[in-house]
Formats: sequence, C-alpha cells, structure tokens
Amino acid sequence: MGRDGKGNVGFIGIGTMGREMVRNLLKAGHSVRAFDLNEAAIGDVTTVGATRARHPADAARDADIVITMLPDTPHVEAVVYGEHGLLQAPPPGKLIADMSTISPVAVRRIHADLKQAGVGFIDAPVSGGPLGARNAALSIMAGGEADAFARAEPFFQAMSTTITHVGASGAGQTVKLCNQLICGINIQAICEALALGRASGVDLNLLRRVLLGGSAASWMLDKLGPAMIGGDVGAGFRIDLMLKDLRLVQEHAQALNVPLPGTALVTSQYVDARAHGEGANGNQALFRVYDRMTNQNAG
Ligand code: NAD
Repeated sequence: MGRDGKGNVGFIGIGTMGREMVRNLLKAGHSVRAFDLNEAAIGDVTTVGATRARHPADAARDADIVITMLPDTPHVEAVVYGEHGLLQAPPPGKLIADMSTISPVAVRRIHADLKQAGVGFIDAPVSGGPLGARNAALSIMAGGEADAFARAEPFFQAMSTTITHVGASGAGQTVKLCNQLICGINIQAICEALALGRASGVDLNLLRRVLLGGSAASWMLDKLGPAMIGGDVGAGFRIDLMLKDLRLVQEHAQALNVPLPGTALVTSQYVDARAHGEGANGNQALFRVYDRMTNQNAG
C-alpha cells in the first residue's frame, strides 16, 4: 500500500455483492484487478475503472491484498488450490481476505496452508446485502491474526461502516453463521405473523407498521416485510444462498454437538420453497410456503 493509503487489490468474484464492493474500492482510490469465471461479470467493473484479469494468479500479480467474494466453499478452494491459484501464485502483499460465506472448518485449513507459504488469510464475511454493499455500509466480521487484520482493515474501510475483529481464523464465519440462523428464523416468525394476521382479516401493512414500533421490530420486518406483503419475490438475498448458509450452520453445529431445532425446522421450509421453484427468488419468497399451507393459491 502506498503512503497515501491507496493500494492494489486483486478482486475475485464479481457477482451481486462483488461488483458493488469493487466500485467502492475504486471510489476510495484503490486500483482493482478483477477476475470472474463469467467474462460478462468482469465487464460490470472494467467500465468503472477496474482492470480485467485472466485468472486468479493474474488478479494477484501486483496486489497488496486479494479479496474473494464467491458463492461457497468449493469455489474459494478452487481459487486458492486450483490451476493459476493463489497458493501457487500469492500476491506480493502476502495477504488474502475471503469475504464469502463459507465453512469455518475449510477456512482454518486454508489459513494453515497459506500460513505455511508465508501468506496471511483473513475470513471476513459480511452482512448488509447488496444495498449495504452499494452504500459501502456492510458489517464485516473478521477472523484471523491481528497483524493480517490490521493490514486488511484499510481496504475493508472502503466497503464498510462496521468492522470487527471477532477472533482467530474461522471466527468471522462462525459469527456470520449465527447471523444467518437468526435471519432465517426471524423471517419464518414474520411469515407466521403475516399468515395469522391475513387469516384474521387484519390489514397487513398496518400490522407491520405497528409491530415495527414495538418489541417485535426487526431489520427483516422492516426491509423484507413490504415485499412479503406485496408478493414481490424477485429481488434480494436468494433462497439458494440462504439454504447454503443454513447447511453450513447445521454442519458446524453437528460437528460441535450443538442441537439447533429451530434452524432444522426453518431449513426444511426453505427446501420446500426451493422445491417449488423459488431458489433464485429473494428470501421474502418464504412467505409463499405459508401461502400454500393456508390455501392462498401460491404457485
Ligand atoms: P453471486 O452468485 O451473485 O456472485 C458470485 C460470483 O462468483 C459470480 O459472478 C460467479 O461467476 C463467480 N465465481 C464462481 N466461481 C468462481 C471461480 N472459481 N472463480 C472466479 N469467479 C467465480 O453471489 P453473491 O450474492 O455476490 O454472494 C457472494 C458471497 O457473499 C456468498 O458466499 C454469499 O453467501 C455472500 N453474501 C451474499 C449476500 C447477498 O445478499 N447477495 C449478502 C451477504 C453475504
């Protein structure tokens, strides 16, 4: 990183979140070399100043830090261990931050392998969704060694308002999984309240407004409530991605012998939603499960 606090970033995974995060890194004055398997996705950020990379090693070639924002554990492993991968060709800054939501166990393995190669690795998953990514208002929960975190933090500041170092490698992902199980169960609770209110003939917009003023208020009721009530299922955090996160929660909990009955129940409702073709829809589409259970003629 230069004396002016600006640096070179290799960014891998230019999807819904990544494209917004790259824009904010560029706005903050950093340079970005971007890679994605989908060539068209890279075009979304070259138009605003990023440079196109041919593979992960190319994205890393003059980077102070490489940031990955990929769907799931196997994608991050492919970028680290695969051909033209980051283990084989680490960035000169010897620092990698994975901001995807992936398995904490895999994180610790990647951390150990990169450490042997002299490369720092931070798990830094985010909360706040595409809107938080666009507004540089993500909440970042980071795990890893303090010195690596300190070097990554100035880059995180370009994308985030809340950055917390929560512990050793994998701790960021553990906190993120706790976040996701609360989100899933909270959405389910909102669906149940809306189903009951609707069956009773209560105006659902009024119901939501009143609940937001009391102890049942939540981010989900505020942000997703209108789309649930209006039947607008298209946009937002995809059902498929939430199912991936709930699988990670359950794998982690089973390995530690922690029963999570609430998570198990809501996971089967998400599977119900996906089985009815809702995988690419936003999380608010969970309400359609309740439409079907209450005979409201959902698809
Ligand atoms: P996305 O599917 O929109 O984007 C992922 C991108 O990664 C795609 O462009 C895909 O082509 C690319 N990709 C896949 N494998 C690759 C590889 N081997 N090499 C290079 N590129 C590859 O996903 P997203 O919504 O941006 O989410 C990314 C991560 O952030 C996920 O782990 C998700 O759980 C997490 N997250 C998402 C949200 C959200 O609201 N979308 C919120 C918080 C966290």
